[in-house]
Formats: sequence, structure tokens, C-alpha cells
Amino acid sequence: METTGPWTRAAAAAGLLIDGEARPTVFARMSAKAAETGALNLGQGFPDDAPPAVVADAAVAAIRAGQNQYPPGLGESVLREAIAEHQSQWYGLRWDPASEVLVTTGATEALAATILALVEPGDEVVTLEPFYDQYAAIIALAGGVHRTVPITSRTGDDGDLVLDVAEADLRAAFSDRTRLVLVNTPHNPTGLMLWVGALQAIVDEAAAHDAIIVTDEVYEHLTFGPAHLPIATLPGAKDRTVSISSAGKTFSVTGWKIGWITARPELITAIMSLKQWLTYSSGAPFQPAVAAGLTMPTSAFHDLAQDLRERRDLLTDGLRSIGFRVSVPEAGYFAVADAAPFGETDAADLCERLPGEAGVVGIPLSAFYRDGQAGEASSYLRLAFCKSRATIEQSLERLETWAAPRR
Ligand code: PMP
Ligand code: GLN
Repeated sequence: METTGPWTRAAAAAGLLIDGEARPTVFARMSAKAAETGALNLGQGFPDDAPPAVVADAAVAAIRAGQNQYPPGLGESVLREAIAEHQSQWYGLRWDPASEVLVTTGATEALAATILALVEPGDEVVTLEPFYDQYAAIIALAGGVHRTVPITSRTGDDGDLVLDVAEADLRAAFSDRTRLVLVNTPHNPTGLMLWVGALQAIVDEAAAHDAIIVTDEVYEHLTFGPAHLPIATLPGAKDRTVSISSAGKTFSVTGWKIGWITARPELITAIMSLKQWLTYSSGAPFQPAVAAGLTMPTSAFHDLAQDLRERRDLLTDGLRSIGFRVSVPEAGYFAVADAAPFGETDAADLCERLPGEAGVVGIPLSAFYRDGQAGEASSYLRLAFCKSRATIEQSLERLETWAAPRR
């Protein structure tokens, strides 16, 4: 059976096949490496934590009660109502659960359906760089042209790594071909959050070029300082914004794949028209369970974030004392560490060796850049702190043993 002939040209043209093989995601590849070598997995971003009891109990109850068949294409009304209520309570954004909310198979399907529904061949799509790897794959499948805005890095006064986006660079990425700007805040892989200046610049440029804003907010509740600021709340933004989020990170249920979209009815309908041919619908018993999670008291969300913040500090303090240059993230699951102090200029190569040399798996930041574009970030790696304290502590001990003779 041919794997690289004319039959498979579409996948190959989008860069999804390499030498006739499905190009594995960096997360799948590095998790396989962890399993193979027995190394501690600070690579793929899935937590060790159990979901909140109300969420887990509601899923079990829904299965027992027989909620196991296809949910409606838009999603169960109890979940659509909980999503609308959550947006109103946390952000003051009002959405009609009947026409402005769509439940999806994770944020992954929400992103794919949105980009495929709204981007035509030759349209430009703007993202930050580094970016969550799925973006490039789907933009390529849609025939879009990927434009990027660099996240820059410098050394702060305290010696830490400081990451930032320049407003001028954001503005410069727009053109009359821009159809869509895909904003990821809080950001994967860096944990960077965008604030009002940068967000308003995006809204102004999107309006000037009549572009749609898509915002990926899957880490919205995992913030360690100021609360998340959704771009849809800015003046002039709501009507042109597709907001995407997901239950996976907030409730530690990455395997459930329940995501959602809020947007104006015209946009929801266009995305739904595509989504119904991808999965139609999914996750029947998990939908009411996520609804139960979204209606938890605000203090429960804060407790989840506080617990994660302590693990962030455990990892970043530990990495710093080992001798890595570290960026302390404001949100999310991941810290960025620079291995250059150990003479490691190529983190992609280091991450191949690290499971064997140290018994720890990390992801090179270059995996989140277009080929060859990582530049100064080539020596950076992404390490996940959504793992148990014991896993983080043991990883730090192993990294210290690895680092000692290299200092
Ligand atoms: N966007 C970002 C920025 C992510 O980090 C992830 C996955 N972790 C997703 C989207 C996909 O979310 P889901 O697991 O809900 O499909
Ligand atoms: N979002 C997760 C991460 O960044 C991975 C999700 C996946 O493996 N598809 O690690």
C-alpha cells in the first residue's frame, strides 16, 4: 500500500506526513519516550490530580442514569446554560445559550472547526510564536498562510528569563489578507498572559482589517496573579470574537475532551456546520459533569489555582538553584528553562538525551516554532508542573545530579 503517492497528497501537502509516516506530535513522542525509559514525564501537559469530587461523581451518576447516547449537536442544554452563566459571572459577558454557545470535542475540535470554517486558501492567520502546535497543522490544512508575532526573551534584573510581546510587532503582523487572529492567553508553552494594551491593539487591528479574533483560553482559571482578561470583554471585540475554552485543564480531565465556543450566532452556525461533520457530538455523561464543575463556588477555582501555584514555585525555585535560567509563568501548566548555562545550545538534542542521562522528560521549545525559527529559544525547554509534588521533587533531584558535573 502506497503511503506517499497521489492518494495521500493532501495530508503530505499540509506537512502531516513525513517519509510516509504520520508525523507524531511532540507530546505523543516524548510521552512514549518516558514510558520506554521509565523517566519522569514533565513533558506532555496532563495532570496527576484527580478531578474535583463533584465533577467525578456527576459523571458516574450520569452514566448510571443512562446518559450514554448521542447528545444534541450543539451540546446538552444543561452545559450550554452553565457555560453562558460562567461567562456572565466571571467576565460579565452575556451569551444566549440557545444560539451563542457550542459544545465541542475538546478545545482541539473547537479550534479545528473554527479555522476550517472561517479560513479560505490564501487567507492569513496571525498567531504568536511559539504557538500551540495544532495551530500550524490546521492552518495548513485550511490552505491558510501562517503569520507570526514573536514572543521575545531577555534576562531580568534578578537573572530570570523575562518573556514579552511588543505591541508594534503585534500590529505589524496584520495585513489586508488577515482573516483571523488566533490569540492564546494564558499562553502555551510560555505561561505568558496578554494585558489590556496588547489585547486592545489586536482588537483595533482586527477591526481595521475586518478580521475575526479567535481566542484560546483553556488555561483561563489556572492563573497565579491577576485574573485572566478575555479579549471579548474589550470595547469593539465581542461581535468579531470566537472564544474557545475547555474543561480538561481546569478540572484535571484532559481525557474527557469537553470544550466549548461562545460567539455571535452567525459565527456559531458557520462553525457548527463544520463541526457536525467532524464528530457530530460526543461525551454524553461528561457534559453534565462539566456543568457541575462550572457552577462550583469561585473559591473552589481559586483553591485549584493556588495548589498549582505552589507546584510552579517548587519547580521554578528548584530549577533556578540547579543553575537553569528560568521564566516564572503567570499561568498554566508549564515553565520555560534555559539550558544554555550548561553549555546546551540545542534543547531538541538535549530532550532526546535527557531521559537517558537524567531520567527526566521535557519538551524543547523549538517544537512550538515553525521549522528553524526558534532562534534564541533553541536552548529552552518546557517543563510541566501539573504533576505531583513527589514527581517534581524527584525530577529536581535527578536534574541536580545531571547538572552537578556540568557546572
Ligand atoms: N489549546 C491549548 C493552548 C492547549 O494547551 C491545549 C491542550 N492542552 C488545547 C488547546 C487542547 O485542549 P483539549 O484537550 O480540550 O482539546
Ligand atoms: N496541550 C498538551 C500540552 O501542551 C498536549 C495535548 C496533546 O497531547 N494533544 O502538553
